[in-house]
Amino acid sequence: MRILIIEDDETIARQLSGYLEEHGFVAVVSRDGEDGRYLGLEEEYDAVLLDLGLPELNGISVLETWRAKGVAVPVIVITARTSKLETIRGLEAGADDYIHKPFDLGEVLARLRSVIRRGKQQLKRELSYQDVVLDSGSGKVFAAGHYIKLTRIEFLIVQYLFHNQGKVVSVTELSEHVYRDFDRDSGIIARHIANIRKKIGTHIICTEGNRGYLIPYDNDKS
Ligand code: CA
Repeated sequence: MRILIIEDDETIARQLSGYLEEHGFVAVVSRDGEDGRYLGLEEEYDAVLLDLGLPELNGISVLETWRAKGVAVPVIVITARTSKLETIRGLEAGADDYIHKPFDLGEVLARLRSVIRRGKQQLKRELSYQDVVLDSGSGKVFAAGHYIKLTRIEFLIVQYLFHNQGKVVSVTELSEHVYRDFDRDSGIIARHIANIRKKIGTHIICTEGNRGYLIPYDNDKS
């Protein structure tokens, strides 16, 4: 299990990483928001401990960026006990849980295990169709049990369709999600879909006429 700790206080970061490694985790420490944001986007972790008061970029912005880009890794925010507002903002930005400073290390461990477990359950229940599984926590797609290497854009498309499973998603909506504020020609999404189909199979993403694309639910699922 790999845990990303984004914490600028050296003592706290060392305490956390030492404790987690004693308990069998691999802990990666980042000391500022910009670096942490980058690591969360580019690397795979089972969970993140995210301090909110950080140099370069605050924790809320880090979390908002991840969630906007579809990074679904479980996140526990670390907030000051006195700041209820910070806690609320953290949860609104997409945190799965929070702990207050000063914290008990045993409690951190218990909460970490809990968010990781919840994340895994959610994944099993929601993000699969036939032989294709999307692991949002690790940012990986598997087809027939094999890891499929997708580009960042391809992954975002598959992830967005899975998050909207059972619903038709228009090309415009996909394009807005994937490219944010850029205006792209609509053919580019079709080209990405064609490439994805080559990698994961043609049966996973259905074309719904001019309306858009769809990943259906399995028939045997409730
Ligand atoms: Ca701090």
